[in-house]
This record gives sequence, structure tokens and C-alpha cells, in this order.
Amino acid sequence: MSATAEDLIRRVHEAGAALEPTPERGLRLRTPRPLPGELVATLRARKAELLSLLAPKSRIADLAAEMGLHLADVREAAGPDFDELARDPNTARGFLPAMRDRRDREAGRVPAGWTTVGLCERCGPVWLFPGAPERVAGCPWCFSRLQGRPIPRPPMTCGSCRHFTPDPMGAGGAGRCAVAMADGPDRPGDPPRYPHARRRCPGWRPTT
Ligand code: SF4
Repeated sequence: MSATAEDLIRRVHEAGAALEPTPERGLRLRTPRPLPGELVATLRARKAELLSLLAPKSRIADLAAEMGLHLADVREAAGPDFDELARDPNTARGFLPAMRDRRDREAGRVPAGWTTVGLCERCGPVWLFPGAPERVAGCPWCFSRLQGRPIPRPPMTCGSCRHFTPDPMGAGGAGRCAVAMADGPDRPGDPPRYPHARRRCPGWRPTT
């Protein structure tokens, strides 16, 4: 009696390998070492049968691909919860955007749709997800700050910052900043501290 599709998948797993449906309705074999030739040939010959068995997982592959995520990265991030994620599209729809947003933050990019300007007590001015409070004690960027990763900043003006002292010669002139931020006010290319010049400054704090 020939092996069932389940038997074949079990053999693949026992060899430390994995079979994954691809978004193009293909079948990808991930293996740390070459598998026996007869097993590989059988997998090829019975691809349609194997695909129908693994079909529920193709949905998560589609969702991941739509968000520019690699299925292998999703599998690694989800760990033991991957199978549940693959079975339940609703769970995947919550997990995958959060994973994509985290990837963007770690790369120093503003996640898509994060257009709310908020003030984190620890990070300073940051871009946050829609509906986020204006002021927060901690934020999703705190991990980037602790890891020394770049944080993209919303533009703020010195004139609206509590650390700003206006030019004594005239309200529109360049003023002084009362704080010395290692990565903030004195970067090359930053505009002078005119009250209305927009700066992407981690030291900005409101006057009230
Ligand atoms: S902390 Fe930044 S925004 Fe505030 S005055 Fe200094 S340079 Fe300007």
C-alpha cells in the first residue's frame, strides 16, 4: 500500500524539513540537508494531493505576502502558535499587521497609517497609530530607544518648546535651547533655532 499524504508529510518533518504551500499554489520544501531522492520524487508526483492537505496554511501565506512579510519570518515570530495562526485568519489578521509595524519601527520607518503625533514621556515626540492618546508614559518606540535604533520624529517648532529662549533682539530671530540632546538639536543639517522652523527633535516638550 502506498504512503498517504499524511505519511509523506510526517516523513518530511521527521527529517527536520518542512513543506509549505506558496502563494502561487506551489509547494516549497525547506530542508537543512538533502532528502532521499525517492522521497523528493514522490513529493513532486503527489504535489496536488499534498497541497490540498496543506491548503489551510496557504491563506496565511497569502496574507503575509500581501504585507510584504516572508512566511519563514512569520513562522519564526509566531513560534509554537504558528499552526493556530495558519488555521485562524482572524488571528492572522491581528498578528501580521503588528509584526509588519514592528519590522518598520525596527528599521526606523514610520509604520503605514501611523499619522498621530504623540508625546511619550521617555521618547519625546513620536508617530503613533490612529486613536493613540496624545500623551503616553511609554510607547511602541521605547524598544527602539532602548536598543539605540533610530526613531523618525514628527516635525515640531522650537517656538512651541519649553526649552526655547527667544532671541532677545527680536521675536523672529534664532533663539537658544536650554538642553543639550546628544542626537537632537545640534545635528548637521538641522535648521537654526528660529521659533517657527520645523525640527525633528527628540528634546521637544510642550510649554504646558
Ligand atoms: S529641545 Fe529641540 S525643539 Fe526644544 S528648543 Fe531645543 S532644539 Fe528646539
